Amino acid sequence: MDCATLKIGTPCNFMSSKGCSFNGGGCYGAIEQCNGCDRAKQFPSGVFCISCPDPNQKWKLGNCNLATHVKKVAVQNTQKVNPLKASKRSAR
Ligand code: SF4
Repeated sequence: MDCATLKIGTPCNFMSSKGCSFNGGGCYGAIEQCNGCDRAKQFPSGVFCISCPDPNQKWKLGNCNLATHVKKVAVQNTQKVNPLKASKRSAR
C-alpha cells in the first residue's frame, strides 16, 4: 500500500488501512551517509530513503547494501597456489 504519512505516494509494506505499522508510525529520515544516493528523496516532510524505513540501521554494520553512490571494491583472491600442483593442472 502507498504511504500516507511521511513518504506520501511511495509503496510501502508497513502501510495498511490502519496506518503505518513501522516503529512508532513513521520512517526515520535519511542520514548524512545517504547524501548522493539515488534512493534518498525529498518529500514535504523531509528527506527519506524510498527503500528502507531506517537508514541508520542500514549503515550500522558498514556500507548500506542498497546505496547507489558507494562503489564496491573487488576483493582480490589471495589464495596461495601450490606451484607443483598448478603445473600438473596445466599439463592436463
Ligand atoms: S539506500 Fe541506503 S544509502 Fe541510499 S538512501 Fe537508503 S539507506 Fe541511505
